[in-house]
Parts: sequence; C-alpha cells; structure tokens
Amino acid sequence: MIYANIFVPLRRMIPTIEYIQTHFDAYNTRFFDGALPPLPIRLSHAKGFLGKLTFTRRKQGLFRGYHNENFVLRINVRIDYPEELLQDTILHEMIHYYIAVNQWRDTSTHGQLFRREMARINAEGNRHISISHRLTEEQRKQVVIHKLRAVALVRFADGKIGIKIVPNQPQHIRYWQRAAMRRMPITSIEWYLSDNDFFAHYPSSVALRVFLIPHPEDLPLTDSDRMIG
Ligand SMILES: [Zn+2]
Repeated sequence: MIYANIFVPLRRMIPTIEYIQTHFDAYNTRFFDGALPPLPIRLSHAKGFLGKLTFTRRKQGLFRGYHNENFVLRINVRIDYPEELLQDTILHEMIHYYIAVNQWRDTSTHGQLFRREMARINAEGNRHISISHRLTEEQRKQVVIHKLRAVALVRFADGKIGIKIVPNQPQHIRYWQRAAMRRMPITSIEWYLSDNDFFAHYPSSVALRVFLIPHPEDLPLTDSDRMIG
C-alpha cells in the first residue's frame, strides 16, 4: 500500500467558485468541444457527496418524453481536497451534465454512456475519474474534512460575551436556545455555522454552560456564517 500523502506533499485546497469556474471552462473546451452551456456553480456544506449535479426533468407534452433543465453544479467545501481529486470531481459532474444537457438517457446513474465518457477523458487527459460520489478509503487518508459547528454567541445582561458549541442539529439548537434563555441572564443569542478549527477546542454539548470570551472581536465569526431565523 502506498501512502502518497506521506512521501509526496499533496497540494490540498478548499474549492472556490473561481477555481471551479476556471476549470469548468478549460475542461469544457478540452474534453467537450465547448458544448456545455454555462450553469450556476454553488459551494455546498452538505454531507455525503463530493460533487452533485441537480436538474429538473420536465415532461414535454403527452408523448414527447422529458426535457432536462435548471442545472446547478455543487461542489462540497467541507473537504480540503488534493488538487487532482478536486479536478476529477469537477470532471465527474461535467460528464453527468454532458449527458443530461444532451437529453440522453443512460442505462443507469453511472451507466454505459457515463463510463464511455469517463474512459475517454481518463485516457485523453490522464485523469483518474471514478464512478463514486464519495471518498474511497485511500482518499479519506488524503483529505481533511472540516466539521461544521453550531456556535452560539451569547450576550449577558452584565455586558459579558461568551460562546457555546451545540451539536449541529435543529432540535439541539432549539432546545439549547430555549433552556439558556430561561435559566441564564441572557439578553441575546446569535447562531453561527463555522468550520473554523478554533471552535474544536470547545466541547460540543447541550450543557447549559457558556465559555466567556474576553476579546469577542477576535472571534473568527463572519456575517456570512450567521444562521438566519
Ligand atoms: Zn456521479
């Protein structure tokens, strides 16, 4: 077994829209004759997939079959990818897009059409695209998965500010919000979702315990991490 991550320093990266767009455009020209129309690209924090192409299948009249439309390409950003794997993930989803936008019907999700295109691009581009949407055991050793934490920023009546990390599930967040407001002299609670490793140093639980932060302005929390509602 070869542990590539020990002997070869892999360049790991968290994808950005710009990176995905640039590579989408280059691969479109190189592997698909520029046939893929532009589509919205989104970054996802969901669990369970590297990349995902979503679209709607609209029925066209009674006998004319279906038409695929409203395509969106999603790439998971919980994962710090080796660059090769990120590129193969973009290409994998582009093959799905190529098949769907041409209104072709494959024999299954990764059926004959998909495998034909995958084999072609792997050969032409010396790539290692696979039919999996998840990390293999070997890939799992090469990536860093960022955990998304629910962070409560708590303001007390006496002006002190603290944080509490709660398991990232709606029922735990609701429970903690209700219990804390009832039992502690709190004026407000703001919720954030953060993958910053700073918060790994705090226990995640529903215990009614808040860690006071002497310099809250230094907390790595941004408006874009703020949970709405
Ligand atoms: Zn797939």
